[in-house]
Amino acid sequence: MADQTSQEPYDEGPVAALRRIAFLLERGREDTYKVKAYRGAAAAILPMGEDAVAAAVADGTLRRVDGVGASTATVIEQAVRGQRPDRLVRAEAEHGGPLVEGGEELHALLRGDLHSHSDWSDGGSPIEEMAFSAIELGREYQVLTDHSPRLKVARGLSAERLARQLDVVDAVNDHLAGTGFTLLKGIEVDILDDGSLDQSDEMLDRLDVRVASVHSKLKMEPEAMTRRMVAAVRNPRVDVLGHCTGRLVTGGRGTRAESTFDARAVFEACAESGTAVEINSRPERRDPPTRLLELARDLGCLFSIDTDAHAPGQLDFLAYGAQRAEAAGIDPERIVNTWPKQRLLEWASS
Ligand SMILES: [Zn+2]
Ligand SMILES: [Zn+2]
Repeated sequence: MADQTSQEPYDEGPVAALRRIAFLLERGREDTYKVKAYRGAAAAILPMGEDAVAAAVADGTLRRVDGVGASTATVIEQAVRGQRPDRLVRAEAEHGGPLVEGGEELHALLRGDLHSHSDWSDGGSPIEEMAFSAIELGREYQVLTDHSPRLKVARGLSAERLARQLDVVDAVNDHLAGTGFTLLKGIEVDILDDGSLDQSDEMLDRLDVRVASVHSKLKMEPEAMTRRMVAAVRNPRVDVLGHCTGRLVTGGRGTRAESTFDARAVFEACAESGTAVEINSRPERRDPPTRLLELARDLGCLFSIDTDAHAPGQLDFLAYGAQRAEAAGIDPERIVNTWPKQRLLEWASS
């Protein structure tokens, strides 16, 4: 491989190269430990400034920087020398192509994404990194929806932490003023056993968008599960029903069967109350399954095509959901993230 060193010029600098490699690996669903090295190295050299990084390359001290390892040092050295890093060339070749065939027209209509996580709960990247990546993907907005308190394994946010997060979102938006992009305030709130929500009404009212999902007792018997879900989607504070069956079809966490409930009753309640049914784009979820997607379509539901991204590269997963929605013949007008932001916010606050 050594003789395949890229001779292509590259002038975007080492931080951009490391971030792009990480983005592509996440997009290609590579193991997170592989990705961490690149994100860690980018974070390590960013505060040094370009001149200091170049000096460290020149005098051979780059490897002494905490967070820079053998492979990331090579990326940095090549980028500093104005040469497209080999690792970047390889990542582009392996993971830079279209994710899926079909749905391109609908994908182009999507203005934003209503479901994403940061490292405040179980995501892998800071809020601002998620926002920057959403901007780079051409999004008008991104809704930050970290988990609610009861989901302890995912470091769900207490009311106090959520309140602090909202201040951070304000600060990020101040910083991004003039870009035309808005980071919207949201939550993925747990639907509790009785259908109530795992966050106070006061906090929920401070948010722009609320996704409600079942994360516990997924095997509840069907009648109780139906009551639980119907109560949640009829709650006027709920805007989106997240990954409705909870199934996992592939991936590192293994597979998991669908929850069983009266889908007709749940989707009729969604249609009546204006709650959108999420088309969860994560390849391991593909939720709802096609037969339920078609049922929700026939019952007149609104939809939201969401990434449920836990890392920046996963923000590109909208392509998967767009492909499924288009295949199911869902009218783009019924997909809330094709709407202008103002209309979306009015719908979510009503
Ligand atoms: Zn979830
Ligand atoms: Zn989620």
